[in-house]
Amino acid sequence: MQLPADYHMHTPLCRHATGEPVEYAKQAVAIGLTEIGFSDHSPMRRDGFDNWRMNQDQLDEYVENVRKAQKDFPQLTIRLALEVDYLPGHEDWIRELAARHSWDYFIGSVHYVSDSWDIDNPAKLSEWQNRNTFEVWSAYFDRLTLAAGSKLFEIIGHADLPKKFGHRPNRDCTSLFEKFLAAAKKSGCAIELNTAGLRKDCREIYPSRRILELAFQKGVAITFGSDAHAPEEVGMNFAEARQLARDVGYRECCQFVKRKCRPINL
Ligand SMILES: [Zn+2]
Ligand SMILES: [Zn+2]
Repeated sequence: MQLPADYHMHTPLCRHATGEPVEYAKQAVAIGLTEIGFSDHSPMRRDGFDNWRMNQDQLDEYVENVRKAQKDFPQLTIRLALEVDYLPGHEDWIRELAARHSWDYFIGSVHYVSDSWDIDNPAKLSEWQNRNTFEVWSAYFDRLTLAAGSKLFEIIGHADLPKKFGHRPNRDCTSLFEKFLAAAKKSGCAIELNTAGLRKDCREIYPSRRILELAFQKGVAITFGSDAHAPEEVGMNFAEARQLARDVGYRECCQFVKRKCRPINL
């Protein structure tokens, strides 16, 4: 059984990951992956927006580091990508980023439900106490739906991120999920199975099986990502993620080359 490509990996330039790209590549080869993609947190137009991403003037260095890994590991296919924060109003900036290098894909992620609250930030965990859980999920999925429909991204990252610390609404969220997935389908955007959720309080892959079932019914394509912030996390729990996708009905996933999808067998 061939494990799918790991399309979500970080580098130390984002200031909260360890290990150079060559070390991630080495680990990928060691566990038998044949394809990976780096998707570090993209810079914002304004440096200092937060403390968990590269600055603008580090973008070229990031690309060089990935190119070095490509050169050092010719037996491994290594894609060049970014995990880009979607915030309404940032669309022009995201287009500028897209024009700067020859990217293979952009993962569009919502971490911010407002300009000041990144809901997955452990340093801001207490903010959840001031909020209604359903309202946070609702605001998050409204943004995720905009991201999915924006045509700025090939993949939507960790679709149900608000569950990270275990905050789950006691109201039915099906309509939120369906709106988001309809937008993804319409614009041809894939979603990722992100195994980092298994390493968080929620102890579950992003997204939930329920969302994945809805995605399959709607014909939304998938990719896989470990969201590795250290080399030993590369490809983590990928057999389990692949099995989940197959159990739901998926027999294909997407490979991305220069921002174009090629379906491959799962
Ligand atoms: Zn990160
Ligand atoms: Zn993320």
